[in-house]
Amino acid sequence: MANNKKNQVDETKYSLDTQIIYGKAFSDKWDYAHHVTAPISSSTTFRLDSVERGAQGFIQFANAEIEEKAPIFIYDRLGEPNKDMLEENLAHVEKGEMAVSFATGMGAISSILGVLTKSGDEIIAHHTLYGCTFSLLTNWYPRYNIKVNQVDLTDVNNLHKVLTERTRVIYFETPANPNLSIIDLKAIVDAVKEINKTRDEQNRIYTVVDNTFATPFCQRPLEFGIDFVVHSLTKGIGGFGTDMGGAIIGPKKFRDMILLYRKDFGAVLNTKSAWAILTYGLPTLGLRQRHQISSAMKIAEYLNQHPKVEVVNYPGLPNFKFYEVAKKQMMDFNGNFAPGSLLFFVLKGKSPEESKENGRKFMNFIADNAYTMTLAVSLGHTRTLIEHPASMTHSAIPADKLLDHGIDAGGVRLAIGLENPDDILMDLENALNQI
Ligand SMILES: *Cc1c(COP(=O)(O)O)cnc(C)c1O
Repeated sequence: MANNKKNQVDETKYSLDTQIIYGKAFSDKWDYAHHVTAPISSSTTFRLDSVERGAQGFIQFANAEIEEKAPIFIYDRLGEPNKDMLEENLAHVEKGEMAVSFATGMGAISSILGVLTKSGDEIIAHHTLYGCTFSLLTNWYPRYNIKVNQVDLTDVNNLHKVLTERTRVIYFETPANPNLSIIDLKAIVDAVKEINKTRDEQNRIYTVVDNTFATPFCQRPLEFGIDFVVHSLTKGIGGFGTDMGGAIIGPKKFRDMILLYRKDFGAVLNTKSAWAILTYGLPTLGLRQRHQISSAMKIAEYLNQHPKVEVVNYPGLPNFKFYEVAKKQMMDFNGNFAPGSLLFFVLKGKSPEESKENGRKFMNFIADNAYTMTLAVSLGHTRTLIEHPASMTHSAIPADKLLDHGIDAGGVRLAIGLENPDDILMDLENALNQI
């Protein structure tokens, strides 16, 4: 939210916790100097005073060459006040030069990959991915003659096993959905820097990180040298489970091309959702994340010592495989370790079948009896959501291939909400007693 003061205020003197409420001190996206909250703009088209102003608007659109002046709005799909203000604030909080918003997270992911690749190019992706990203890369990209190599990027050496002259993009999530494996941002950036030394600008490799699980409160990959961050604003940033949205954040020189791509492919964030995320989601991100992290930590510790639980993946647990890497790169605005609001755990069983069956019983008990946990996909909600990736979000992956993608068939994903953590523990205890 902009804060139009008479005198220029230097927002950088204030903490990001405070800046996230006010946003950039000055915005030229709308003259709303007397509104405390930005008004909802809901206009698909904009009056142009003259043909000349109309022409100027089209010249200015997606044209960074032209010195930035107050925008000339033309049509919602090209840009309008609510989205533009949200974009300014998203770029600011992710420490990027620019942001472009999209209708959904998948809109943002398909757009950045659409901008960075063409037929004949190759993408290297981590082998554990959000279900629809997996589907995009494996069901659709072969039709466009874009080859995707999936490897385990938690070991950066694997990169070199599938690297070719045609590799254009390294794509991953960290923490990865659903098992929360952590990829070392700096190690990837260093490796790609070395490779790019041997390549000209046209053939250089770009790194893209899906930062949805961490949110910018817990991790800002651009600070480690990653080229682009993508988000599903539907999750932790939106925060209330009411609106879908997505965003790309990255270098300014790509803004024009991304805007043109969005204009022509059309995955535009609707103005009311942009307004809700700008007004409710982003300003409360720190407040919500702090609470969710502290609850997640408590719940992770509880599950970690529970006799019926085989393993708990939570970046904040010292016995988690990727704890040391997580500590290096997951930090809140003030530099405190911020391991996020998601947990993945596996119930015990004498065989994988039994473990899966225990998972099924446990989840159905929760669906029928728990007050604080809802059997539902999605995350970063006011309510704690629980789901079974193997049969739900990751059902695009064949059952016998799940382990190749790092996903235990009996694993449960828990996305912590805003409840009192003791109440979640009470419901978990009850459900664990049933198996
Ligand atoms: C939800 C999600 C997406 C897709 O976002 P939508 O807004 O649902 O399109 C992508 N990546 C991750 C990690 C997600 O959780």
